[in-house]
Amino acid sequence: MARSQASARVVVIGGGIGGATVAKYLAANAAGIEVTLVEPKARYTTCFFSALYLAGMRSLESLTHGYETLAQRYGIKIVHDFAAAIDPVAKTVNLKSGGKLPYDRLVLAPGIAFKFDAIEGYDEAATKIMPHAWIAGPQTELLRQQLDSMEDGGVFLIVSPPNPFRCPPGPYERASLVAYYFKQFKPRSKILILDAKDSFFEQELFQDAWVRHYPGMIEWLPAQFTGGIKAVDIKDLSVKTAGETFKGAVVNFIPPQMAGGLAQQAGLADQSGWCPVEPRTFESKLQRGIHIVGDATSGGDMPKSAFLANSQAKVCAFAIAAALTGSARFAPHLFNTCFTFLAADDAVSDAIALEPEGGAIKISEILISEVGEDAETRRQVVKAANGWYDAFTHDVFG
Ligand SMILES: Cc1cc2nc3c(=O)[nH]c(=O)nc-3n(C[C@H](O)[C@H](O)[C@H](O)COP(=O)(O)OP(=O)(O)OC[C@H]3O[C@@H](n4cnc5c(N)ncnc54)[C@H](O)[C@@H]3O)c2cc1C
Repeated sequence: MARSQASARVVVIGGGIGGATVAKYLAANAAGIEVTLVEPKARYTTCFFSALYLAGMRSLESLTHGYETLAQRYGIKIVHDFAAAIDPVAKTVNLKSGGKLPYDRLVLAPGIAFKFDAIEGYDEAATKIMPHAWIAGPQTELLRQQLDSMEDGGVFLIVSPPNPFRCPPGPYERASLVAYYFKQFKPRSKILILDAKDSFFEQELFQDAWVRHYPGMIEWLPAQFTGGIKAVDIKDLSVKTAGETFKGAVVNFIPPQMAGGLAQQAGLADQSGWCPVEPRTFESKLQRGIHIVGDATSGGDMPKSAFLANSQAKVCAFAIAAALTGSARFAPHLFNTCFTFLAADDAVSDAIALEPEGGAIKISEILISEVGEDAETRRQVVKAANGWYDAFTHDVFG
């Protein structure tokens, strides 16, 4: 039952793209709801555009955002702490520092966690030697330092994870922009992608770009060729597949993924490792009164992207406002546009619209760049991508 308008409390766990958007859209649009956002980090660095940082084209600072505006302009209470547990009966969140936060509705946006037990030898300690750089920040800096100090002629080995994972074009965009950097500064170097899959998103667009921009520099080996990734050895920077062992001068190991730890611990994830949600409200299908947005969710054709996390968050915020305050219900509109860089002046985009259908979320429209587009078209996509970054991060944090 809805509480009185003056006292409804929503706690949002996770101040990344999904969580910050839910908090902002609730606080900005729903009178009478008190919003608290729990996030351990003082500042958030975006994964998107981190390949530009690896290529030396952007600073990490330019990808980093604070929570001041969310607190000052929208009155959101920001708690810099880690949510350690949820008590769905008492409706409280236990903080790592020892406090408790009561809620009427809870939103979880914890992002991803890594399946460290999936590949022999790759555990949390191994990330210090073979960074995943799949959560932006210190890991991304470490990978950049390793690439900077790699000698010309070295092999940069990327291990790409099985589906589903955060940002389907991400590993291949990273390969493209590191190749762009190598081409200028370490032209004898090579990139080898060992894939856990047999195909990947926008494959034709990438492979066309690799031939045009970086001939002979990037090699991609699918799982059917290697027999799959079996183990890593951090001592000699090698990755063992079923048939062969590959060594790198720098190894970027992107592990298999699942919903963030708290979602697992709170019983919000099913056997797939991801959290099933109602498509119109993003309420958990496993626990009523708790909503989940962002990469942690599952249910249909949703790619794990920042754009879609932001779109889901708006649907979720308006559904919570309607449930708590009786405000108007809106039909959900979900969109995703991803811009992918192939070189400094060459980018492609894919845009999809999604709709609830039969308890899941399905793609209803799709528009994607094509092989053979002229250079000016691709330069315009680069321009649009840069404009999108500023507008999008303002929508989330500004
Ligand atoms: C290399 C790369 C490139 C990408 N490029 C693009 C792109 O071009 N376009 C695009 O749309 N997407 C892109 N993405 C994907 C995008 O970054 C993610 O989809 C997006 O960040 C998901 O948002 P989220 O809110 O689910 O998770 P996140 O943004 O990761 O936020 C999760 C937050 O929850 C916090 N948290 C976790 N557990 C707890 C807890 N127990 N208590 C409190 N806080 C907690 C974390 O500290 C974190 O801040 C890219 C990703 C990568 C890795």
